[in-house]
Amino acid sequence: MPHDDTIVAIATATGDAALAVTRLSGPDALAIAARHFRGKRSPIDSESHRILFGEFVASGGPALDTVLLSIFRAPHSYTGEDVVEISSHGGPAVPRAVLESLIASGARPARPGEFTERAYRNGKLDLAQAEAVAAVVRARSDRALRAAEATLGGELSRRVASLDADLVTVLAEVESRLDFPGDVREAADVRALAARCDAMAGVVRDWLDRLPSARRREEGWRVAIVGAPNVGKSSLLNALVGYDRAIVSEEPGTTRDTIEASIWLEGVELRLTDTAGVRDAADRVERLGVERAERAAEAADLAIVVLDSTRPDAGAAESARLVEGIPTIVAWNKSDLVGGDAMPVGLPGALGRAVVVKSVAVRAGGVAALVAAMRAAVAESPVSSGDEIPTTSARQESLLRDALAALDRAGGLLRGVAGAVSVGAAGAVASPAGAALAGASPGPSGAGLSPEEIPYDLAAVDLTEARRALGEIVGRGVDDAVVAAIFQRFCIGK
Ligand code: GDP
Repeated sequence: MPHDDTIVAIATATGDAALAVTRLSGPDALAIAARHFRGKRSPIDSESHRILFGEFVASGGPALDTVLLSIFRAPHSYTGEDVVEISSHGGPAVPRAVLESLIASGARPARPGEFTERAYRNGKLDLAQAEAVAAVVRARSDRALRAAEATLGGELSRRVASLDADLVTVLAEVESRLDFPGDVREAADVRALAARCDAMAGVVRDWLDRLPSARRREEGWRVAIVGAPNVGKSSLLNALVGYDRAIVSEEPGTTRDTIEASIWLEGVELRLTDTAGVRDAADRVERLGVERAERAAEAADLAIVVLDSTRPDAGAAESARLVEGIPTIVAWNKSDLVGGDAMPVGLPGALGRAVVVKSVAVRAGGVAALVAAMRAAVAESPVSSGDEIPTTSARQESLLRDALAALDRAGGLLRGVAGAVSVGAAGAVASPAGAALAGASPGPSGAGLSPEEIPYDLAAVDLTEARRALGEIVGRGVDDAVVAAIFQRFCIGK
């Protein structure tokens, strides 16, 4: 259903900038732009995909700025409607005046994400692609950008479509068995159907298994810098980042809160968190900092435990406890203060298995070995090798889990496995067939029921549920309220 109003928003970030783009979309986009444009040609007469040069004039007023208008005629535009993009000078004043003039001429200020929402509603993008627009803008690394662009380009939608095509054929087979109940069933046929369900479930399971690492790639690695007060954590963070992001002090316990800064290695963002010293915090503020440090350490993808080589025991045991189970690098810091080759021996717990590097946080080049170890940790991680999977939002992930559960149930039912009782979307409960199933004892082959006894109706419910979940990933059958909620999270102008 086409929209009857024309929306407008500044599409670029605000603040001092050379250029800004204001975007108009809707049936009156060309006419509204024409009212404020003075040039050789009017946008109304322009062909699609043309750029017009001229002046922008405020309502009834003088020329405001020199502008370029990019003209896109429906349906060949981002939204599928008539679109005009006005490039003007940036900064706070010009784009605001352009925006206000266009609103005065009848355009309505766009809601967050409304351009992309229109693109979705006009069939220019499916829902998975529309969500990827946000991921492209949010991407923090080259790899994250590639994954988001893959989704925007339809990679996730293609994977879903290919699964769905398989599902449709299996569902058709199952339903044909419902239609002709008297037919003699070959056990091998049913087993083949079950195997196809398992294969589809395997694809989804593999996808889900790889999501945590993909997400780490997208959101960057969280790196916690852990150690006792005064061992040189802040100095190390400063040295890594290259400027005084943290305040270094000779009084123990000055880093009361966590401090964050980012560096990029191997095209991946490492979000470094300098934590308050691990020790019994005396005052309340510091205790809060310590708790936050513990949380930061728990959530970390990589830990850097800083030990002061002049007092190697300080904080070692507590740090070891904190980083248990997390890939860890030990920075043997202040190594300038101890004799040449001295290295730690007999480090406690997890630290004993960690990579150990020397560092001098206060000397130029003193963290080179640490950076090399961090680079190796990032490069060796399966996150950085393995093949790409397209960006998958939390909503899509939860739908994939629904699909997986339904496929597992359908596979179980078709194999005649006892206990694989359907609890599909339609709230289906055990039918008489299901009750018979629960009492069946599967043999070693897993086939406890003869082909005639298989509850095809329940399997069909689960396969339909799997299709529903996959369909919603790309927007099929998605509630309007859900769609609205997705676009509300976008920024204005997108
Ligand atoms: P934090 O409490 O762990 O964050 O420690 P700071 O970074 O505040 O450092 C405590 C003190 O140790 C400061 O005076 C630093 O200048 C000093 N320091 C840190 N790293 C080194 C190092 O590698 N060598 C030497 N000689 N001093 C260091």
